[in-house]
Amino acid sequence: MIAGPCSVESEIQLNNAVEFLVSNGIKIIRAGVWKPRTRPGSFEGIGEAALPWLRDAALKHNVSFAIEVARPSHVELALRNGIDVLWIGARSTANPFTVQEIAESLRGTTLPVMVKNPTNPDLGLWIGAFERLNKAGVTELAAIHRGFSTYRKGRYRNNPMWEIPIELKRRIPEIPLIGDPSHIGGKRALIWEVSQKSIDLNYDGLMIEVHPNPEKALSDAAQQLTFEEFKTVKEKLAYRSGKIENDHFLNLLEGIRAQVDETDHEIIDALSRRMNLIRKIGAYKRDNNVSVLQMERWNKIMETRSEWAEKMDLNVDFILDIYNRLHTESIRNQTDIMNQKMEKI
Ligand code: PEP
Ligand code: MN
Repeated sequence: MIAGPCSVESEIQLNNAVEFLVSNGIKIIRAGVWKPRTRPGSFEGIGEAALPWLRDAALKHNVSFAIEVARPSHVELALRNGIDVLWIGARSTANPFTVQEIAESLRGTTLPVMVKNPTNPDLGLWIGAFERLNKAGVTELAAIHRGFSTYRKGRYRNNPMWEIPIELKRRIPEIPLIGDPSHIGGKRALIWEVSQKSIDLNYDGLMIEVHPNPEKALSDAAQQLTFEEFKTVKEKLAYRSGKIENDHFLNLLEGIRAQVDETDHEIIDALSRRMNLIRKIGAYKRDNNVSVLQMERWNKIMETRSEWAEKMDLNVDFILDIYNRLHTESIRNQTDIMNQKMEKI
């Protein structure tokens, strides 16, 4: 568990947080020194002047600090001031030039580096950052999942899109995965829930923002936990085993998994039959000079499938999502068929 304020704001604020966190067993403290703000004019961090405060607090409390670095000069200052862990922020991960420069500046060092996911849901960019660091000889790496920006704000500040970090873990299992419920949730009330979900998905760690007086915080005021809230969240988290060791349970699970496999087979079979019908329709549309998209039919499909889903106790939005994907793929198939004729002409 990594915890600490979003930003260092003063030496008093820092020491206050450090004393509390250390007495609650935290061994790595996060503390933003340079803050990448989306718009200019807000607090951009204390900068270099905060580093001696961190260095002194680390010695006094025998604790490590993790800070964000966004350019080689930050790396150099962090190294000079005895910072133990670095992280690359979401906006920097999205920029290969920045990541490459940071990677070069780390050549020959042994500091662990955590890489936040890029702001956009691009797994390639995230993996690319690990590759750049690895090529520069940085081997102590970790991934931080902080969610993905969206234009329309939903329940979360940053859409978690859990499937992306899970796919990262599948592709590079040796990189520890750390959840950042603070930047995913964006508000105090969601921190426990997002943390628990990360634990249930076998994440290796969490990074949580904690502030002595969050309401007065100079950055991310809505999501930083008070000391009391942090204690409660920490106590309420339940750790479950990632491995199944109980034989009876394993047998039961295997039985149900076999049925899931069979059902998936049926689903793919049905999808293939559906697509063949769609192609047949595509050929008729082509031969009768009718356009691919028939809005009335599409509306009818969405309506009836919603009703069917509801009757079957399925989440309607979930089913509509699937149908939207099916429709896109059907249009792609039918467009191909239309173009075959065009090519012949
Ligand atoms: C932060 O950790 O305070 C921060 C700025 O995060 P991100 O890069 O995820 O936006
Ligand atoms: Mn923050």
